[in-house]
Amino acid sequence: MTSAQLVDGHGRAISDLRVSVTDRCNFRCQYCMPAEGLPWLDRDSVLTFEEITRLVELLASLGVSDVRLTGGEPLIRKDFPDLAAMIAAIPGVKDLAVTTNGFLLERDAEALVAAGINRFNVSLDSLERDRFYRLTRRDSLPQVLAGLDRLAEFPAAHPIKVNAVAMRGVTEAEILPFAEFARQRPFEVRFIEFMPLDADHSWSPEQVLPGSEIREVINNVYPMTEVAREPSATARVFRFNDGKGQMGFINPVSEPFCDDCNRIRLTAEGTLRTCLFSIGETDLRGPLRSGASDADLEQLIRDAVWKKELKHHVGDPGFVQPSRSMSAIGG
Ligand code: SAM
Ligand code: SF4
Repeated sequence: MTSAQLVDGHGRAISDLRVSVTDRCNFRCQYCMPAEGLPWLDRDSVLTFEEITRLVELLASLGVSDVRLTGGEPLIRKDFPDLAAMIAAIPGVKDLAVTTNGFLLERDAEALVAAGINRFNVSLDSLERDRFYRLTRRDSLPQVLAGLDRLAEFPAAHPIKVNAVAMRGVTEAEILPFAEFARQRPFEVRFIEFMPLDADHSWSPEQVLPGSEIREVINNVYPMTEVAREPSATARVFRFNDGKGQMGFINPVSEPFCDDCNRIRLTAEGTLRTCLFSIGETDLRGPLRSGASDADLEQLIRDAVWKKELKHHVGDPGFVQPSRSMSAIGG
């Protein structure tokens, strides 16, 4: 680290960066994108690999050690493994992760592991083909399962996390099948509560299936014990008592974990977001392209991070949903 650790005005050290490498996606998940897609960014508006690398280098010099590449769907960005390798080579980046819908994993798993990605989160909301189709608007369950199988062949990619968005009226039938999936395969399945980040703005509290309810259903059949929480972790992790795997629960709505949040986000067009639910953001691409020095960029970043939101206000009266959907933020 070359400069003082990046901290926010509430005393939280920032060490985790999520980088959206594209706003585009090959799926149309109901809770994220409209069926017709969104107006995509012009290619010129999207940060180049060199621009992303420069910003990550700067942030790594300020104490960011964990980087997650996401989108949109990161694997559809041309030559994405090359970008992963550029970021893996940055001094100070200790952990490099990707979040993907898995559609292209069968093709890319080997290249991504070779590039230095050491953690994989694969989004999979249903193990049942029709429900998968309804949720993603793509009949692609077999491809995603094939991608997971391919990834599982690489020990360097383990433990592999499988993330399922939990929605009331949809996910109940998936709970035990997913628990069995986690017990039989080298996958930690994590249920994520549905958040008001859908492009349609149709989220309502009634659609949230709380992690505690899911846990109870599993626990009644396959008893589990909680594992000690790692600092700044998003998930509560439970191990099956018979030792056959573990499950995670990401409960941002029913049990917010803002107190020790260490995360910031860079969107595909180069704006810095200090919270998933930020209403405002800081443009870094403009200054970057008009010749700003590292010191200028550092000042912009420090000023933005200092004002990082104390917590999100989902569920509070007056909550305002961000205009960007999850795909345009980088989940
Ligand atoms: N396309 C990749 C994927 O789906 O894994 C990466 C981007 S996606 C926006 C990142 C994560 O956000 C996925 O796990 C997705 O399920 C989750 N997500 C999207 N919209 C969400 C919402 N409204 N509430 C909770 N999670 C959401
Ligand atoms: Fe695409 Fe991921 Fe959003 Fe689904 S959740 S539409 S795969 S960006």
